[in-house]
Amino acid sequence: MALIVQKYGGTSVGDVERIKAVARRCVATQKAGHDVVVVVSAMSGDTNRLLKLVSAITDRPDLREQDVVVATGEQVTIGLLAMAIQAQRKKARSFLGHQVRILTDSAHSKARIVQIDEQRIREALRKHEIVVVAGFQGVDAEGSVTTLGRGGSDTTAVAIAAALKADACEIYTDVTGVYTTDPNVCPAARKLDRITYEEMLELASLGAKVLQIRSVEFAMKYKVPLWVKSSFTDDPGTLVCEEDTKMEEPLVSGIAYDRNEAKISVRGVPDEPGVAARLFGALDEKNVVVDVIVQNPAKDGRTDLTFTVARSDFVTARDTVKKVAKAIKAEGVEADETVAKVSIVGVGMRNHSGVAAKMFQVLAAEGINIQLISTSEIKVSCLIHSKYTELAVRSLHTAFGLDAPAVDLSATSR
Ligand code: ASP
Ligand code: MG
Repeated sequence: MALIVQKYGGTSVGDVERIKAVARRCVATQKAGHDVVVVVSAMSGDTNRLLKLVSAITDRPDLREQDVVVATGEQVTIGLLAMAIQAQRKKARSFLGHQVRILTDSAHSKARIVQIDEQRIREALRKHEIVVVAGFQGVDAEGSVTTLGRGGSDTTAVAIAAALKADACEIYTDVTGVYTTDPNVCPAARKLDRITYEEMLELASLGAKVLQIRSVEFAMKYKVPLWVKSSFTDDPGTLVCEEDTKMEEPLVSGIAYDRNEAKISVRGVPDEPGVAARLFGALDEKNVVVDVIVQNPAKDGRTDLTFTVARSDFVTARDTVKKVAKAIKAEGVEADETVAKVSIVGVGMRNHSGVAAKMFQVLAAEGINIQLISTSEIKVSCLIHSKYTELAVRSLHTAFGLDAPAVDLSATSR
């Protein structure tokens, strides 16, 4: 007998029929002899709808009150799911974040889980109840409702799995698992049977939006075996787990891309101590997160500094940088929104050379110019013109041997 935490996302509980189908899955898991804790999101579109109501009232919402509003989506789905399970003659009980007591800090709209009290969940499981917990929400020390940031139900599920030392945490979504790249961009994308936490973190932070990043960090820290599965099929899904040192890991496990980037270059920056600190200090003050940074070696006492920011921060970043550039007597600022970042990710590249070179050759062969390069132990990223995103992803996918085998139709055509 195992303890299994299951999480169902917005599309999986998108209407009443689907909620009934989720109830059947929970009941089947319990009938197989397991203890079941289910975490659910709001019905798909509901959180957006609630946020729209907030912005119809004010464009500067008090985030404590905003959390009171947006946390209600999950209150609806836990109640409906608990009743759907009861309708199948099984015991179920719903819990809001504060009823479990999912204690968070007070950073409204992006709170972090501090502690989970497992007592009430354990009690309910002892009574053979299926425990249904609202995702995305918690309560702070003052008793105020908090939310964990968009996609936060994943983190609720993993945190509960960690607190209960569950045997598995299964994240049910509308895709069958984690893919080698975005199937919408590359039709040859393949579902992975397993992937390491580290790779998943890189892929998630690079824009593969299957799991909330924080949930993967949590799973890695507490070694929670994490499954990504579809609630619409019986596919076993993808297991996110620790690196298996006995196995030869593939060189590259996935290709990620991010179109949400913008590039800013500061030309002719005086080559003296403190200029980078001033520039990036000013950006930090505006809460602009900087991604890739490249500084060229100085020539004739001047240097060029180039970096990328999220596109949503582009205007703030450009205006801030222009001001600082003037103050430090740099020669000029160039800003470009038509860029994309393409990355190859794989723990296998830790022990192999030539992976980056191969990536550059593949892009060169397609005539794609590389504007910036950054690397980590298990990742190489290149900034390119955004119009080449698809071409780059597909060519890299093929070159690193990730394409799904072509379907052989000869047997059926005769
Ligand atoms: N309902 C929340 C959202 O839409 C949390 C979640 O779905 O994970 O972001
Ligand atoms: Mg989600």
